[in-house]
Amino acid sequence: MVDHLVNTEINSQRIAAVENCFGASGQPLALPGRVLLGEGVLTKECRKKAKPRIFFLFNDILVYGSIVLSKRKYRSQHIIPLEEVTLELLPDTLEAKNRWMIKTAKKSFVVSAASPTERQEWLSHIEECVRRQLLATGHQPTTEHAAPWIPDKATDICMRCTQTRFSALTRRHHCRKCGFVVCAECSRERFLLPRLSPKPQRVCSLCYRELAAQKLQEEAEEQGGVSPQQLAHLGGAFYGASSGDDGDDDDSDDDKEGSRDGDWPSRVQFYASSVSWSAFHS
Ligand SMILES: [Zn+2]
Ligand SMILES: [Zn+2]
Repeated sequence: MVDHLVNTEINSQRIAAVENCFGASGQPLALPGRVLLGEGVLTKECRKKAKPRIFFLFNDILVYGSIVLSKRKYRSQHIIPLEEVTLELLPDTLEAKNRWMIKTAKKSFVVSAASPTERQEWLSHIEECVRRQLLATGHQPTTEHAAPWIPDKATDICMRCTQTRFSALTRRHHCRKCGFVVCAECSRERFLLPRLSPKPQRVCSLCYRELAAQKLQEEAEEQGGVSPQQLAHLGGAFYGASSGDDGDDDDSDDDKEGSRDGDWPSRVQFYASSVSWSAFHS
């Protein structure tokens, strides 16, 4: 499905069109051997609510972004190398059907398609591309995946202490390790999660204890024992307890919405319509 499109004029034109839509906010996408295989709108379950996102499947990357103006202007571009991707089918919920999870080491999230057929098309095309990418690079599939963030709406109380009730004043936070919605008190600690970021990340109290114990054990194994000095050291700079509000929780990059979000008054109808928005080039 890929080979006959490589180095064709139509493929170059399609990729140029995508670059144009993202404009200066996006990365250059044209590369020798890169083929655009399909595109379509999927609903992405974000922190606050589910939102339409434009997705482009290339033979080596999956690109998605926010829609400012359909087929004209996109922004907030994200690029996911396909060799890191694992897919997981998910059951329907009351709000969303035809769901699946896109899992990578850095980030995992849930999307849904307009119909079972469309989901099947996305799944089979992505999986075929992943398989070919791994074959070409000789890499192993990624086995460790970032936990998807549990949506804010899923809970009114902290999922760790189950005491704190969230409100306009009591903010929700997300543990970067388990993805749970927790209160500030239950997520005071920071821990270095190298797969996610070079900076220590907010983690919940339970994950902190597990990560710290794991780290300690690894160090003990490496050095044949843990000294009190090492224990003291581990409690200090490296794990770094929170020094107050670091304002890091407005998170998930693509979930920020600009004023242009208001341009989608018919967002719900858009998806309720029977129009198929995914098209695969064959
Ligand atoms: Zn709590
Ligand atoms: Zn956690």
